[in-house]
Amino acid sequence: MITALMAVGAGTTNAQQHSSQTASSDKKEGTFEYSNERFADLQMLRYKVEGFENLTLKQKTFIYYLQEAALYGRDILFDQNGKYNLRIRQMMENLYTNYRGDRNGKDFKAFEEYLKRLWFSNGIHHHYGCEKFVPGFSQKWFKEQTNCSDEIADVIFNPETMKKRVNLADGDDLVKTSACNYYENVTQAEAEAFYEKQKAEGDPLRPVMYGMNSRLVKTKNGELIEKKWTTNSMYGTALKKIVENLKLARPYAEDAQQQKVIDLLISYYETGDLKTFDQYSIAWVQNTEPLVDFVNGFIECYGDPLGLKCSWEGFVNFKDLEATKRTETLSANAQWFEDHSPVAPEFKKEKVKGITAKVIKAAILAGDLYPSTAIGINLPNSNWVRAEHGSKSVTIGNLTHAYSQAAKGNGMLQEFSYGPEEMSLMEKYGDLTSDLHTDLHECLGHGSGKLLEGVDADSLKAYGSTIEEARADLFALYYLADPKLVELSLVPDGDAYKAAYISEMQNGLLTQLVRINLGNDIEEAHMRNRALIARWAYEHGKADNVMELVKRDGKTYVKINDYQKLRGLFGELLAEIQRVKSTGDFKGAQTLVETYGVKIDPELHKEILDRYIKLNIAPYKGFINPVYTAVRDAQGNITDVTISYTEGYAEQMLRYSKDYSTLPLINE
Ligand code: ZN
Repeated sequence: MITALMAVGAGTTNAQQHSSQTASSDKKEGTFEYSNERFADLQMLRYKVEGFENLTLKQKTFIYYLQEAALYGRDILFDQNGKYNLRIRQMMENLYTNYRGDRNGKDFKAFEEYLKRLWFSNGIHHHYGCEKFVPGFSQKWFKEQTNCSDEIADVIFNPETMKKRVNLADGDDLVKTSACNYYENVTQAEAEAFYEKQKAEGDPLRPVMYGMNSRLVKTKNGELIEKKWTTNSMYGTALKKIVENLKLARPYAEDAQQQKVIDLLISYYETGDLKTFDQYSIAWVQNTEPLVDFVNGFIECYGDPLGLKCSWEGFVNFKDLEATKRTETLSANAQWFEDHSPVAPEFKKEKVKGITAKVIKAAILAGDLYPSTAIGINLPNSNWVRAEHGSKSVTIGNLTHAYSQAAKGNGMLQEFSYGPEEMSLMEKYGDLTSDLHTDLHECLGHGSGKLLEGVDADSLKAYGSTIEEARADLFALYYLADPKLVELSLVPDGDAYKAAYISEMQNGLLTQLVRINLGNDIEEAHMRNRALIARWAYEHGKADNVMELVKRDGKTYVKINDYQKLRGLFGELLAEIQRVKSTGDFKGAQTLVETYGVKIDPELHKEILDRYIKLNIAPYKGFINPVYTAVRDAQGNITDVTISYTEGYAEQMLRYSKDYSTLPLINE
C-alpha cells in the first residue's frame, strides 16, 4: 500500500504548502535544483540522497547492485500497462533520436511532448487518470516518419481503441474494457470464477495472493491458463537480469537475515511459487535492523481492475537516523501523551504503545514508483502476513523535502497568507511542524484512545474514516502547542506550533478546495477531516474572535487572533471526537461530518480556484533519479560508488531504454 502525497493540486498538502527552511540551509544546499523541466500537466523534480557519501563502501556497493536490480525491471511495467507499449516506445525513441526534420516544427514538438508523457506514465495512458493520451501530431506525419503499422496507428490515434488503462465503471466488463495487459481474451466473469476456484481450494487461514504474478490467458481451445512471471517463462529475460544483480548484491547485505530475504526473493522469481513469496514477505518484515533496505517485485495491484495482478516496482532506501530519532522520542513518551490528553479518562488507554514509523531516504525509484512516486509505503499487502507478523511503515523524507523545496516560490504561500507575520512563521517553522504533525498523527494519534467494551469498531460506518483521521489530526494539533515538545527538543521554541495552526486553518478553510471541481462536495476522508476541524474551530471560536476570515480586494484570508484559544478548541473537539468514536455514536459522527466536512460555499470555492489557476502550478509531479557509477580497480573490484544529479529527463529515459531494455517487444 502506498501513501500518495496528493492526487492533484500541487502545493495543496501540508508538505507542499510550506515554503521552508532558513536562508542559511538553502545556501548549504548549494546549486542543487529541486525543480526540473515541465510539460503537459507534469513537473519533473529531483531528490537528493543526502548522506550517501558517508555510507561504508560495503553499503554503497550493496545499494549499487540493488539499484541495478531495480532498474532492470522497467520494461516489465511498460508491458503490464499495455501490450503495445514497448513497441510504441521503441518506435518513438528511434524517431526522437534520429529525426532530421525541423525539431521546432508543430508536429515534432507535439510528438516530443507525447513521448515525454509516455515515459512518465510507463505507457500510453495517463499515470493517474488512466485515460489514453490524445496525440497532438498528425497520423499522416507520424506514418511518414516511422514504419508504424495500421494496428499500432489505431492504438495510438483511434480514441476508441484501448481507451482506458483501468476501467472501474460499474456495470462494464472491467477486464474487457481495461487496456492493461493482465488478461488476454478473458471476460471478467471468467477471471473471477477462475480465482474463486483457486481460493476455495487453498488455505483459508493463510491464503496466498492468488493471481498476483501471472497473466491470465484463454487459449484457442478455450482453456484458461496462467502465464507465470518467472525467470524461465513470461518476463524471464528481465527477471534473469534482476536475479543476477540480486546475487551480486547478496555478499554485501547488512546481516544474515537480509541474505535470507534475498535468497527467498530469488527462489520466488525462479519458481513463481506464491508460498515462497509469503515466506519472503515474512523474512522481510522481520528484517528491521539494517540501514539499507529495498523492495523489488510484483507489489501494487492498483493497475488491475480486479485488484489481483501486481505491477512491478523497485525501490532502494536507507534509514534517516536523525529523523527517525524524532519518531523514537515520540514513541518512547507515548504514555505521557495519552495520560495528558484532554479526552475523558474512560476513553483513554491504560497502556499505550507508540509506533515507530521509520523515516527513510530514497536512493532509487523504479517500476511503478518511477517517475511518479509515493511518499510513504506500508508493506507487505497480504492481510494474514500483516496480522501475524506486522508490516513495515515508512515515510520517505528526502522526497517530501524535495516537494516542499520545489514548492518554494510557486506563489501559494504569498497568495494565501494573510500577512508578513504569517509568511515568516511559515517560512521559519513550516517544514519542521509539518513533519512533526505527520509523526504525531502516525506514531501517537491513531494509536491513542480506546473503544468502550461492546462497541463495534464499524459502528460509524461511512463516517468512520473521516472521524478516525480527525482524531489523529486533532491529537497532533493539540500536542504541537504543548510545552512538552520544547522540553523534548522536538521544537526550538513556543512559537513553532503557530505555523502548523496557520497551515491547518488555511488548508481546511481555503486551499484544499483547489483539488475539487466547482459544484462538487468534499468526498475524500482526509479532506473531510481537515474541513471538519477548521470549520468547527472557526464557528466555535467566533464568539471569542479566535480567528477571522478577512476579505481584502475580493480575496479571502485566514487571520488567527488567539493561538492559545485555538489550541483549546482543538482539545475540546478532540474530546468530543474521541467520545463519538469510543461510544460508537453514529448520529454524532454523521452530524459532525455533514455539518462541517462536506459542503462547500460555491462563491468561496470559485474565488479559491480562480486564484489557484493564476499561479499556474503543474498538478502532477515526478522524479528524475540520481546516477550511480561504480569505480573499479584493475581487477574489477568496486572501490567506490559515486552519485550525480546532472542527468536530464529525456537523457535518463533514453539511457534506461538503451541500458536496461530486457524484454522482447511482444511478450506472450
Ligand atoms: Zn491517518
